Amino acid sequence: MATIRINKDNFYHNLNQLALKAGSKERLAVVLKDNAYGHGLTLMAQLASEYGIREAVVISTEEAQQIKPWFAHILILNGEPFRDEVFSFAVTDLRQLHHVDPKAKIELKVDTGMHRNGIRMEELDTALTLIRERDLTLYGVMTHYRSADVLSSEWYWQKHNFETVKHIVRSAGFDAVRFHSHNSAALLRSRHFDEDIARVGIAIYGYNELPASFDPIPLHPVLALYARRTSTRRVQAGERIGYGGDFTAPHTMTVSTYDLGYGDGWPRGDAHDPYITPDGLPILGRVSMDFVSLEGDQETVCIMDDARTAASYFETISYEMTTALSPEIEREIV
Ligand SMILES: *Cc1c(COP(=O)(O)O)cnc(C)c1O
Repeated sequence: MATIRINKDNFYHNLNQLALKAGSKERLAVVLKDNAYGHGLTLMAQLASEYGIREAVVISTEEAQQIKPWFAHILILNGEPFRDEVFSFAVTDLRQLHHVDPKAKIELKVDTGMHRNGIRMEELDTALTLIRERDLTLYGVMTHYRSADVLSSEWYWQKHNFETVKHIVRSAGFDAVRFHSHNSAALLRSRHFDEDIARVGIAIYGYNELPASFDPIPLHPVLALYARRTSTRRVQAGERIGYGGDFTAPHTMTVSTYDLGYGDGWPRGDAHDPYITPDGLPILGRVSMDFVSLEGDQETVCIMDDARTAASYFETISYEMTTALSPEIEREIV
């Protein structure tokens, strides 16, 4: 079986760095959506809780139920609100406010410029009036930045918009509401973080997606992907390996097959410009659904130990590299 090794020391190192930025670990809400970005939902929840994290963010109620025992509070980004001690629900559309259960804790998502989810700023007064009239349980007000990871003025005007939102909400008399807007990139570049929580995802897993021109904050990748040998053979010069025979052995060589493929969420890539493992082994020929071929006969090989490096080869982002990994792959803590 291919295996994902989760490095606990690296995870705690990243949490330490982020807690310093946020001011305390109580202000870190760990984003565990999508199987904890492919790292393993319950495993990462337990580790985070053991570290002292009290807040989590997930996409669905199903995910939230699975990790409920480990957190004081969980924000569900895309779920139908209901009354619960631990859960709160992002409300992203004005229409929801008409029928939402008044006892459910809701966090109003305001669109400050990303134009994906959230009520428009012009709708804020209407929303607050509805919340007041229906006596809804407004627990938080939040927004999401579209370009916190880009060196430009964009982040500043969106931040400015959210300050306006805070002012409007407070002026309307909602003073027990929590405010949050920062994702990893925003927290990593902020100098004076002063919101109630930061919703940190990619950075807890060890990736700083900010351009190098920002303060470098050392983060360490938490996930490493290993594959196991299923068979070994000697191939002669001129013999071709795998589907389509895209790799031709230049000389006699020892080749092994390993149990990882695109069915496990590893990208198929381009056999003519092969991915190279951290130990310098190019994948030989095409990636199959469940197998890849590599030179040598090692029992296990490390396929990836830094999703950013792999992402740049596959022309994607670290988020996609780890999130795509199948939940079926065994995960272990090292
Ligand atoms: C995914 C997500 C985050 C975390 O973003 P990172 O860039 O991974 O830190 C924060 N907030 C919302 C609303 C999200 O959907």
